[in-house]
Amino acid sequence: MSTYRAFEVTESRQFRLVEREIREPEPGQVRLRVEACGVCHSDAVAAEGWRADPGTPIVPGHEIVGVIDAVGAGVWGWQVGDRVGVGFLGGQCGHCESCRRGDFVNCSDQPQTGTTVDGGYAEVVYVRSSGLVGLPKGLGALAAAPLLCAGLTMYRALGRLSVRPGGLVAIQGIGGLGHLGLRYAAHLGHRVAAIARGEGKAELARHLGADHYIDSTVEDPGQALRALGGADAIIATASSGASMNGLVTGLAPQGQLMVVGATADPMTVATTDLIFGTRSIGGTLTGTSIENEDNLAFAQRQGIQPLIEVMPLWEAPAAYTRMMSGQARFRVVLDTTA
Ligand code: ZN
Ligand code: ZN
Repeated sequence: MSTYRAFEVTESRQFRLVEREIREPEPGQVRLRVEACGVCHSDAVAAEGWRADPGTPIVPGHEIVGVIDAVGAGVWGWQVGDRVGVGFLGGQCGHCESCRRGDFVNCSDQPQTGTTVDGGYAEVVYVRSSGLVGLPKGLGALAAAPLLCAGLTMYRALGRLSVRPGGLVAIQGIGGLGHLGLRYAAHLGHRVAAIARGEGKAELARHLGADHYIDSTVEDPGQALRALGGADAIIATASSGASMNGLVTGLAPQGQLMVVGATADPMTVATTDLIFGTRSIGGTLTGTSIENEDNLAFAQRQGIQPLIEVMPLWEAPAAYTRMMSGQARFRVVLDTTA
């Protein structure tokens, strides 16, 4: 094989199936044969043209599972044949100020897979080796893919919170991120409240590990959480800033609102709701490759699997549309081997 197929996108949703020459990986990179790639809401940055240069083609996709088939010069620790994953953060540089401080997530010279460098809507992808995630044995590609971004985001958000064992954690939004958030939070031993719109997801939320279900169309989530004693932490996954406005008042004293749902519209909060009760709001961005290995090991050990809809690679534009429609239950995964 001297070429591979990939879906490039330009401007807004202008997908194009292209045939590209296979080349050798650059120094510090490996080349992967892609097995599967999850479709994440953050793919919208590439596919909706929210980039600095939307006219330049880019291959979206950053929940990639594949097998290394070539190793570039200067790569240490990875071999041809290794099964690996790649998430949104495409590998720290090791030289910038954040890296020198050990803060790899905030590396200022880090590729963003599928956004600033080509990603996994393709048969082949090139990856900086510092971004590679070793896959545990026995974890299938389709089940692993969504764990690499959606799962890691929830795993790291939960890990950064200071919630005592058994504390009340609320997950706002039950989609690609939120459905995994319920599972992770329950498996970490927390009391879990799910917040979503309508009664339609109530039973599923309980099945995923929620002890409480709050329908935000009929009750104010802040008030409902206060009635439960106040949340020690809330992780907001919805793609709506306005939907997060009322959450802060549902936090117990010292409670933390962690924002992981990216959205253009701002959230507003009363300053007194932060001051009285010493509450705080923060954000978190997926995690490093080694945190991702911890995440996969945890998920495998606890039997946490994403709920997925599988589509073949050649249906990538339709898979993207399906994800954006909000109708997917709950993660669309492209099967590159189909
Ligand atoms: Zn993502
Ligand atoms: Zn760096």
